[in-house]
Amino acid sequence: MRIGIVGGGQLGRMLAQAGAPLNLRFTFLDPGDEPCAAVHGEHVRADWQDAAALETLAATCDAITFEFENVPAEAVERLAEQRPAFPPAQALATARDRWLEKSLFRSLDIAVPPIARIDSQADLDAAVAEIGLPAVIKTRTLGYDGKGQKVLRTPEDVAGAFDELGGVPLILEGFIDFDHEISVIAVRARDGEIRHWPVVRNEHRQGILHCSVPQVSHPLQAQAEDYASRVMNALDYVGVMAFEFFVTAAGLLANEIAPRVHNSGHWSIEGAVTSQFENHVRAIAGLPLGETARLAPCAMLNVIGAFPERDAVLALPGTRWHDYGKAPRPGRKIGHITVLAADDETLTQRIEAVEALLVNELG
Ligand code: AMP
Repeated sequence: MRIGIVGGGQLGRMLAQAGAPLNLRFTFLDPGDEPCAAVHGEHVRADWQDAAALETLAATCDAITFEFENVPAEAVERLAEQRPAFPPAQALATARDRWLEKSLFRSLDIAVPPIARIDSQADLDAAVAEIGLPAVIKTRTLGYDGKGQKVLRTPEDVAGAFDELGGVPLILEGFIDFDHEISVIAVRARDGEIRHWPVVRNEHRQGILHCSVPQVSHPLQAQAEDYASRVMNALDYVGVMAFEFFVTAAGLLANEIAPRVHNSGHWSIEGAVTSQFENHVRAIAGLPLGETARLAPCAMLNVIGAFPERDAVLALPGTRWHDYGKAPRPGRKIGHITVLAADDETLTQRIEAVEALLVNELG
């Protein structure tokens, strides 16, 4: 069986690595010369707006999936007419627009921060009067790793902010004084079965994920699972989805979903019975889902912009190295390191040992 993946970055690369033992083959559609996934399969060099290239993907693959959400719904629908293509167009369209996404959460009784839709400076002024400061303004589409957003703290920050973010549709959110951030990764099969991994505690630096630690007995696990299941069922979702939350004194507030395998699930490659990547390809291929239990205390640390000395990391006990084969550039995710241990205390020591070697350049 051959799986077509729209996008050929590190997520595609790790999907192919997970599919290899199942004897699944992969084709990547990506405009780059040498996308980092291409070492693990065929490469169709074109972007997702190229109708002929999408036809080629549909003609040569048995099922199709996506490693990013900015694929136009019409392109997904065209593919889905010819082959199983997951997640569905509606899930991609919802996840790439912060207003549609948060509106879906609200319709499913999932708690969200105070929000307002902003199409002009006048909208912004009115929304700030209602929601108050501080607040966060974000572009509705095309935001990632903290890009396309700004914290508004004073009336001076508000003046002219609409144009500053490019005069595009925005969403204003109340600034949440959260205790910490978590995500839950979940997978839904073609027959509707859903499984969840343990929730992950995430630490960001300059808006970019730095560290993810799965928690086996987080008090909000059941609520996070319930929220993820509601969203997946509403979207008739197939594949892996990540759901990010703020943990506050009042409980969970939903931040966003990613309709794909997610950086905060990379620990599952070594740390879970079945990784997010393997369960995603299983779901797409119509195979039974695997167990999602955590195998041992573990954590994932991102390698951003520059590599630490590889051999020094390899020599540490309990570490696993992932180099995505991408050219280093400040702010670019070029690899990650998984840290495993027999107990939490040893895990903390091992995380500190890896952090002492990291030379991340966040840009
Ligand atoms: P996002 O792209 O929406 O995930 O935002 C990136 C990061 O900015 C989040 O992981 C939070 O650390 C922070 N952030 C986003 N929205 C809010 C908010 N409404 N209140 C406080 N912090 C936020």
